[in-house]
Amino acid sequence: MKDLDFSFKDIVELAKDVILVTKAYPIDAPGPEIVYVNKAFTELTGYTKEEIVGQNPRLLQSTGTDESTKRAMRIGLEQQMPTRTTVKNYSKTGEAYWIDVSILPLKNAQGDITHFCAIQRNVTEQKNIEEKLEILSSTDSLTGLLNRRAFDEILKNELLRFKRHNEKYSALMFDIDKFKRINDKYGHPVGDKVIQSVTEACQSALRPQDKFARVGGEEFCILLPDTTKKAAYAVAEKLKDIVSNTSISTANENITVTVSIGVSEVEKTDSEHTALLDRADEKMYQAKNTGRNRVCV
Ligand code: GH3
Ligand code: MG
Ligand code: MG
Repeated sequence: MKDLDFSFKDIVELAKDVILVTKAYPIDAPGPEIVYVNKAFTELTGYTKEEIVGQNPRLLQSTGTDESTKRAMRIGLEQQMPTRTTVKNYSKTGEAYWIDVSILPLKNAQGDITHFCAIQRNVTEQKNIEEKLEILSSTDSLTGLLNRRAFDEILKNELLRFKRHNEKYSALMFDIDKFKRINDKYGHPVGDKVIQSVTEACQSALRPQDKFARVGGEEFCILLPDTTKKAAYAVAEKLKDIVSNTSISTANENITVTVSIGVSEVEKTDSEHTALLDRADEKMYQAKNTGRNRVCV
């Protein structure tokens, strides 16, 4: 390309994508030294060339990248193969950004790989949209709880975990008693408020690892990991009492509602993740049929 009257160095320097070159070794800590970054790098990260050249790319890494991505990247580096991944990094001021990274091995005149070139595109905005969509598609808009679809996925994984580690878990299924009357008497918006108040009251009694879902109009499910039927029963009793003691204010008066709760525990013979819910559902109907505002195991 002798006849072209421009410098490829300038093109690299001015490219909108980040271009970063490191030595090929060492892959283990402290990691390969950075020998070149272009202007887009300094704009994205806030580091000057002087600050970053001589450092290693670990300086930029954050905890947000998942382990399998890190492993894939490492295997690529070890085998000196091109890799493409999406990772989360931190700028100089500690702000997180996501980049789509292509890493290419660079050879010298003898054909030996001496450096890696990383071409990085800022994909933070797309990643944020993806995260928002993921949250939207897995939550219920009225309560912010998990929706049925997301809960189903979690239950599937929990059964697989049980088959591997034999760690017992339980489920609660509950439904607000005589809820149609609330809607009829006070109107649908008050009904919605009741659903939200019941949700908040129950949430206050759950552990961070418990999974709480709204699976129907005024029907809820809770997965209690690492919990036996006996312990789950105690949780259910507590929830039942919390709900019946929660006063919900409407325009004219304060109202209270009750719930009927069914409890079930995973069983060795369960082949479907829904078997647990079927049993909890059956128990919930037993609670309904034997007077409501009660727990059945
Ligand atoms: P039971 O004690 O047997 O549960 O009696 P119930 O009246 O609560 O009966 P059921 O559980 O079948 O009633 C559910 C009612 O919940 C029917 C429906 O109109 C109402 N509902 C469902 N989703 C919503 C919602 O999002 N908001 C409001 N306000 N009402 C809802
Ligand atoms: Mg009901
Ligand atoms: Mg119902």
